[in-house]
Amino acid sequence: MPGNSTITVHADREIHPSRAVAPPIYQTATFWAEDGETFAQGAVEPRGKDFYTRFGNPNHAQVAAVVAELEGTEAAMVTASGMAALTTAVLALVSTGDHVIGQKSTYGGTGSVLLNLLPRLGVSTTLVDQTDSEAFARALTPKTRLILVESPSNPLLQITDLRAVADLARTHDALTMADNTFATPLNQRPADLGIDLVWHSATKYLNGHSDVSAGVIAGPAELLNRIWDVGLLTGATLGPIDAWLLLRGMRTLPLRVPRHNANGQALAEALQRHPAVAKVHYPGLATHPQHKLAASQMSGFGGVLGIEFTGGFEMADAFLGRLRYSLRSASLGGVESLAVHPASMWRGMLSEDQIAESVPPGLVRLAAGTEDTADLVADALAAADAVHATAAKA
Ligand SMILES: *Cc1c(COP(=O)(O)O)cnc(C)c1O
Repeated sequence: MPGNSTITVHADREIHPSRAVAPPIYQTATFWAEDGETFAQGAVEPRGKDFYTRFGNPNHAQVAAVVAELEGTEAAMVTASGMAALTTAVLALVSTGDHVIGQKSTYGGTGSVLLNLLPRLGVSTTLVDQTDSEAFARALTPKTRLILVESPSNPLLQITDLRAVADLARTHDALTMADNTFATPLNQRPADLGIDLVWHSATKYLNGHSDVSAGVIAGPAELLNRIWDVGLLTGATLGPIDAWLLLRGMRTLPLRVPRHNANGQALAEALQRHPAVAKVHYPGLATHPQHKLAASQMSGFGGVLGIEFTGGFEMADAFLGRLRYSLRSASLGGVESLAVHPASMWRGMLSEDQIAESVPPGLVRLAAGTEDTADLVADALAAADAVHATAAKA
């Protein structure tokens, strides 16, 4: 098998060959066929690439080829956003009367699917503390069809024992689906640990440049065919230009991820010693309560860290205002550092109770970009010094 840097440059080469070194953008809504038989075949080919763009186009297929090889899965498919990947898969895999297990610490949109959308469709859900290895087993019912995991989780960087959940699901005839957005396939390959389906907000690290919204799902072809069938109905099609940009972004994923990992680790180590900081959540720290588990299933720990300030809501907000390089923005995974204060960002999205359960008020989520490590560390320490000095004066 070639290495990841070779895969991201070459894995799509045979998908829709042309002599252009940079693949063309197939900016067309539809394709023509020479005869009726070819046309009819195109209409039913799962994850096809030249029938009608909602059914798939060459730019989608090229992205899918790279993602499948990076994740070590049989196939992959592309959607218009990470949330489109999740809802399309869930709609394909569960029906009224089924039960789904998810995590308490999880991306806000995933939490809403579990707490609002699925119950409205007659699918019951249980959210568990994923740091408790028995919690998934306790939540299982005879109706459980799907377990949604996310590791490391957003925004608390909690780790799920992916192999244990995969083993448990297999013995109970349930499917597992892992959100691998934070880790990327460079740092973690859930399918190698037995997870059935792996999904990403490709908006984040896979694309890596904060200029595209996209999603991907990787897994066995048979499952992806079922999801693709529903994708035709939800119509969450990624535009050809955006698929092209995503492929272009992924070419350098293996160059970017090591820098994100180094920046995340350096920031976590520097900030955890600062007097304004109560706690740093980062799986690469030896003090992270699940560091051993993280190290056993990850080869790098990513660029995202959670920083809890001693001065609560106000100090966290003030820290964001003091950062020079990390912009206040609700994303992550791009070359530029971004930071958010989840307790204020989620005010409009989640209930007070949900926020109280999932995020401490003094938490900042910092997503390190690919800037120079020394610059990011100096910037974060200067901002922490400033909010600490203000608090001391008050
Ligand atoms: C951003 C994000 C999503 C949602 O993806 P979109 O591309 O914004 O739809 C899902 N999971 C995680 C962990 C994310 O960070």
